Amino acid sequence: MFEKILIANRGEIALRIQRACREMGIKTVAVHSEADAEAKYVKLADESVCIGPAQSTLSYLNIPAIISAAEVTDAEAIHPGYGFLSENADFAERVEQSGFVFIGPRPETIRLMGDKVSAKDAMKASGVPCVPGSEGALPEDSDEVIRAAKEIGYPVIIKAAGGGGGRGMRVVHTEAALLNAVSMTKNEAQTAFGNPMVYMEKFLENPRHIEIQVLADEHGNAAFLGERDCSMQRRHQKIIEEAPAPGLDPKLRDKIGERCAEACRKIGYRGAGTFEFLYENGEFFFIEMNTRVQVEHPVTELITGIDIVQEQVRIAAGEKLSFRQKDVKLKGHAIECRINAEDPYTFVPSPGRITVYHVPGGPGIRVDSHVYQNYVVPQYYDSMVGKLIAYGATRDQAIARMKTALSEMVVEGIKTNVPLHQDLMRDTAFVQGGTSIHYLEHKLAAAKKAQ
Ligand code: ADP
Repeated sequence: MFEKILIANRGEIALRIQRACREMGIKTVAVHSEADAEAKYVKLADESVCIGPAQSTLSYLNIPAIISAAEVTDAEAIHPGYGFLSENADFAERVEQSGFVFIGPRPETIRLMGDKVSAKDAMKASGVPCVPGSEGALPEDSDEVIRAAKEIGYPVIIKAAGGGGGRGMRVVHTEAALLNAVSMTKNEAQTAFGNPMVYMEKFLENPRHIEIQVLADEHGNAAFLGERDCSMQRRHQKIIEEAPAPGLDPKLRDKIGERCAEACRKIGYRGAGTFEFLYENGEFFFIEMNTRVQVEHPVTELITGIDIVQEQVRIAAGEKLSFRQKDVKLKGHAIECRINAEDPYTFVPSPGRITVYHVPGGPGIRVDSHVYQNYVVPQYYDSMVGKLIAYGATRDQAIARMKTALSEMVVEGIKTNVPLHQDLMRDTAFVQGGTSIHYLEHKLAAAKKAQ
């Protein structure tokens, strides 16, 4: 096992990885920007290295600075967390070429899955069902594009092959709007991701977002840890996640889960990963794979009892999975609310000093957060300041515990989306379970109209 790991990230996930390492007796190196010098996990780390100014392009995305930090501290492996460099194949390659272990898949796997067109091709070849769409990237020829859309049937969605973070997508309802939408998405894709390639999919009108968590080792073992429902989204960004997905037939889960595990074995996948699907009328359609730990991994940990971050570390150290598929038993229900520093209804970010901070507790409550009283939420990064996770024997109990936890939570000095979560925990459609990915947007639009 490693003696020392460098954590190439910030915020709650940096703290989460640090905690996993400490439990395993592994020393940690925190790298941080000037803006995060005072962060709790930086102080708690065995060593810390400042890797640049606040701006993430100069610090958390600064590959040479991170590699040097690993060199000067004698770290053996690098955990990239999520976001930043976690799905950057060039980074993974540089890490390995510099003699360190990258805690994640092989660079070529990241590259394969990072391009959504090649990812879909690989999934099709492995027997994973995909959203009906264009054969690979869209051609230059306008007539062919029009023909492809006609064949798929409107509405269609144009998506950037290199896209991510919910950006680089455009829904098209009519042929008249098609070509313009394609060229706009191409331009955007070039600017945002440096890759103008786009593809086309059937736009599913009322799907749920259900994803499968997998873990695979270097010895050909792969297992799935059930599913998560992440349908509560705004602008394609998840706000609430839960496991298991309400009302999903366990037989269907096992079938799709087994396909995902099989795909991992076929492509030689290594580490933790997530297969994201849209789910409509009892059918799963693959949209993309994330080759890293996800924000919402705790809900899976709570219902399986498996520590996903520690498994990532063990796999990277060359160990075999510590369990088999038949050992994975889903028990109870878990819900996660992402706590963001933002106005709960206008969603305008609200960085600044937290003047009063009380975290909830009690049975089944887990809080993954790096913030504390007097902490200043920097303006430079993502607005998520923590995750409140509630576990219960049943979904109803998890919701009841989440409601209590939200009512106990006090964050003053900045605005947070706690009131929105409180609204949603009382929302009859959410309480019933199984809402679609458009539910929250529709609810917010209706509330705005009623004002
Ligand atoms: P990203 O990598 O940017 O997160 P995804 O391909 O995972 O992009 O899609 C993000 C979200 O966009 C999905 O969760 C869903 O809400 C919506 N979406 C993507 N593809 C489709 C589709 N074919 N039909 C309907 N909605 C879609």
